[in-house]
Amino acid sequence: MAMNNGVVSGKASGGGLIVSFGEMLIDFVPTVSGVSLAEAPGFLKAPGGAPANVAIAVARLGGKAAFVGKLGDDEFGHMLAGILKENGVSAEGINFDKAARTALAFVTLRADGEREFMFYRNPSADMLLTPEELNLEQIRSAKVFHYGSISLIVEPCRSAHLRAMEVAKEAGALLSYDPNLRLPLWPSAAEAREQIMSIWDKAEVIKVSDVELEFLTGSDKIDDAAAMSLWHPNLKLLLVTLGEHGCRYYTKNFHGSMEAFHVKAVDTTGAGDSFVGALLCKIVDDRSVLDDEQKLREVLKYANACGAITTTKKGAIPALPTDADVLTLLKRGA
Ligand code: ADP
Repeated sequence: MAMNNGVVSGKASGGGLIVSFGEMLIDFVPTVSGVSLAEAPGFLKAPGGAPANVAIAVARLGGKAAFVGKLGDDEFGHMLAGILKENGVSAEGINFDKAARTALAFVTLRADGEREFMFYRNPSADMLLTPEELNLEQIRSAKVFHYGSISLIVEPCRSAHLRAMEVAKEAGALLSYDPNLRLPLWPSAAEAREQIMSIWDKAEVIKVSDVELEFLTGSDKIDDAAAMSLWHPNLKLLLVTLGEHGCRYYTKNFHGSMEAFHVKAVDTTGAGDSFVGALLCKIVDDRSVLDDEQKLREVLKYANACGAITTTKKGAIPALPTDADVLTLLKRGA
């Protein structure tokens, strides 16, 4: 990794493939803020889905990324696949369902601060991915295999997820997990917790937010003891992101925290995905980052900068930074 005035610089990735598995969908957000879904005069399309955002985050930073999942064989499905391709993400692992539609989510933040969701997943195409449809060759070529938990909610996607993880692991990929809790999609909170934890001990890198840490541990404290209660023997790096307070990191041999960058946040959607994409770009070709605290801190500074930049613009994908954008913020400093 090149160093420049103490700043991690240069190309984000030397070429190892990062495969991101899961859902890609369209969020429909009101054209005006502070209204309920019923009151909204119109909606804007905001492509998203955490695993797809991560793939685009990687590609935009100069890394090699692929997305694996299923979209509807409809205007929106082909539009989303087009967005991945335009951003340099391999779409060879995408299947298109003839019968089910691309997932849609109508989302709003009402004036009273309550979030309202309405999902079109009855079922949507992403939920129907089968193990047989997986592009195993591509999955086997991954150096890092990244996933969330929404793909665990129903069959057959759940089996496809488990199979893809297994194949990637056998082929030597590093497994990376960001549960990305979306409670309204689960039948119950208990089911969400159980399923999220059902694959916990497989991943070598796990990132949770402060809210997810509380949810998974059942503790209302965001401290080292709560984080370490999530530790498992295969784990190499556990990250807890804290929004404007940066992040904490835990490894077998050391732990600590990294401050966030001060920015004028407009919309925090995608900050965590941007953070994860940056982290994966930096470890895909240099796993020594996981054992070397100094290197890890440089990488997390870079990842925090990516997260911060992503909050400065509306939407997730349009706000994901390039390597040059990140270097500008790193040179400016916190
Ligand atoms: P998630 O989107 O998964 O909830 P966070 O909101 O914790 O994740 O954001 C991930 C990272 O992005 C944080 O660790 C931080 O570095 C950066 N970030 C998020 N929100 C802000 C903010 N308001 N100001 C500066 N950096 C932020």
